[in-house]
Amino acid sequence: MWVKALDMLMDRLRVQGLDYGQVVGISGSGQQHGSVYWRRGARNTLQNLNESKFLYEQLSLSFALAESPIWMDSSTSKQCRQLEQHLGGAQQLADLTGSRAYERFTGGQIAKVRETKSEAYQQTERISLVSSFMASLLLGDYAPIDLSDGSGMNLLDISKKAWSEECLDFCGPDLAEKLGKEIVPSSQIIGKVGSYFVERYGFSAECYVVAFTGDNPASLAGMCLGPNDVAVSLGTSDTAFISLTNPKPSLDGHIFINPINEEHFMGMICFKNGSLTRERIRDTCADANWEIFNQLLESTPRGVFGNIAFYFDLPEIYPVVSGDFRFNRFDSQVSSFAAEVEIRACVESQFLRLRIHGENLGFKRGPNTRILATGGASANNSILSVLADVFNAPVYTYSIPNSAVLGSALLAKFGKIPLCLQFRCRQLTFNYSAFYAASEKDTTSYYDMVLKLNTNFKLISKPSQDAGEIYDSMADRYRKLEQRLENQSNDDSS
Ligand code: ADP
Repeated sequence: MWVKALDMLMDRLRVQGLDYGQVVGISGSGQQHGSVYWRRGARNTLQNLNESKFLYEQLSLSFALAESPIWMDSSTSKQCRQLEQHLGGAQQLADLTGSRAYERFTGGQIAKVRETKSEAYQQTERISLVSSFMASLLLGDYAPIDLSDGSGMNLLDISKKAWSEECLDFCGPDLAEKLGKEIVPSSQIIGKVGSYFVERYGFSAECYVVAFTGDNPASLAGMCLGPNDVAVSLGTSDTAFISLTNPKPSLDGHIFINPINEEHFMGMICFKNGSLTRERIRDTCADANWEIFNQLLESTPRGVFGNIAFYFDLPEIYPVVSGDFRFNRFDSQVSSFAAEVEIRACVESQFLRLRIHGENLGFKRGPNTRILATGGASANNSILSVLADVFNAPVYTYSIPNSAVLGSALLAKFGKIPLCLQFRCRQLTFNYSAFYAASEKDTTSYYDMVLKLNTNFKLISKPSQDAGEIYDSMADRYRKLEQRLENQSNDDSS
């Protein structure tokens, strides 16, 4: 399906009049955590593609697994717990790879394939991520996995930026060979476009391919996220991305290598109960109307009289509990709140959660911190003014229709030439040396360059003067109450 999608995309762009000969460089992104199992002999097929046929016709027998596991698969709990045990515990695995073992992460997925489909595993010549798989099609050879998407596998030592032998040994024999020993920065040029694309579509033989990365890292690149920014996406789930220099891997978030600068990191936290929970509170407390919701939200004071609540329609990622839990200013559990209190408690608590778990990963608010809000609920300025207060930082919105695609394009534009190619490329064309010059600069200058391309940030709300005082102490209380819920849930399950 994915191969055929590329065939269709190439044809449609040609029909729309794109002159492929003008394309200087290509990068892209793929959904994180999915894996593709190439069958023995597939490399040979990739290197000898016939330009008169579609890719899907030629590659239909090139896969050892007919269906690629993707992020929605959560059937690997057994392998996850075993991998954590193998490394000495969940926190130890998080310290090494940036995340505790997650069912969707590729290490556990590979371990399950090896265990339950051992013949397919043995038949596998190469394992790609969805991102490096698409790059392989364009290169006409196996593309290396990049450091950022590679951080979503529970297999990469994020400090050494190399595969962790301990993790590889647990997940499958000869895994380093199957993954490809080389793992590259997300902005690295990995080769020229394959001759198939030159001959069939008229690409220049000099068109280069930059490593493809995961959709989340590519979004960070597209959002132009700088060291002082927090991107908050208020969609079905509430998600935050942060750029970090000193990350603290924790049990409830992810640390990936930063796609813009591999010396830095990105933190990502995600909570399931976002917009749908806000909608439920709107329906029960505000007549299913956002305007009434906003009026009631604005009618209650910051800090909502010291009340804190947790609304988990679905079992949350952390703490793993479901239900409504309301606490008054003495931290005693109560059964209900007035409608306006319920509304503000819901919004404040959701944002305290993002702030606290961001801090757990190493986020520190500074004088230049900006919150960049996106997602459906970022259309609501009343909600965004609570966000500004809880983080005690100004909130901006911006309009990027698809930040992962934009991020991939920027990575292609500012792609780095690996050392072995630098000398040759400087001599080859002006374009290459221009890209090399751009890539010489540090993150801030990349960021400045990117900001020039994308200036659609709009200030929506500044924090109130008393925000720091109110929400610093509420954040402390939120941590303790959340721990209390987590302990209760552990007691219940044991
Ligand atoms: P997804 O994560 O599915 O891409 P979106 O980012 O499109 O989700 O966000 C959809 C959500 O946005 C809806 O569930 C809705 O609750 C929320 N939403 C839309 N408009 C508003 C609004 N004015 N105020 C608050 N929430 C809103």
